[in-house]
Amino acid sequence: MTTFTLSSFRDRPLQGRDDCTFCQIASGSQPAHLVYESERCLAFLDILPIRRGHVLVVPRRHVDNLAALSVVESNGSKTGEAGEAEEFIRGLVVVTRGVGKALEDDRLQIITNQVYGQVVPHLHFHIVPAPPLPGSTPSLSSSTASSRTSPKKETPPPQRSLLPLIGHGRDELDDDEAVELARQIRAAVDEVVKEETARRTGGPDAKL
Ligand SMILES: [Zn+2]
Ligand SMILES: [Zn+2]
Repeated sequence: MTTFTLSSFRDRPLQGRDDCTFCQIASGSQPAHLVYESERCLAFLDILPIRRGHVLVVPRRHVDNLAALSVVESNGSKTGEAGEAEEFIRGLVVVTRGVGKALEDDRLQIITNQVYGQVVPHLHFHIVPAPPLPGSTPSLSSSTASSRTSPKKETPPPQRSLLPLIGHGRDELDDDEAVELARQIRAAVDEVVKEETARRTGGPDAKL
């Protein structure tokens, strides 16, 4: 079984594919607003965001889709494809938590398409902030109660300027805004990684 699995992977290129945008991002030949990086996993802002904070999580190696991801266990080794699924899922969780933290909103859609509806044939998960509820302004609902008790203070909530959403048209990401947004998400993801590392008892694999 194992022999069969390994030999069937043998003809797959371990290096990136020249015609694949995500491989180009993974190799650094194409720029991207990175929010997370590990040996096998990468996350960056979608250049055509459905909503502000839309992030893509991909394995570094070219893998067509989720079903094609190697589930060979790492057993402490980081060679070849061993541990790829573990590391990818770990990255996905950490980035999901980080996006929720950075946007102060855990309502997210986490989506992957397989063949059907798949535009880029390199495994990727979309992390998309949920649409605002009809008639509500995101994150401002919590301040409504206090504004009722205190008569009209003109203090804008600190996050206000970050709130306007890009909308549903998938407009191309504005570069200046993207730099700032990526910085915020990266900082939140770093915090999550630090929290996770601190939760472990400092063994040799305490590194996330
Ligand atoms: Zn690729
Ligand atoms: Zn996609």
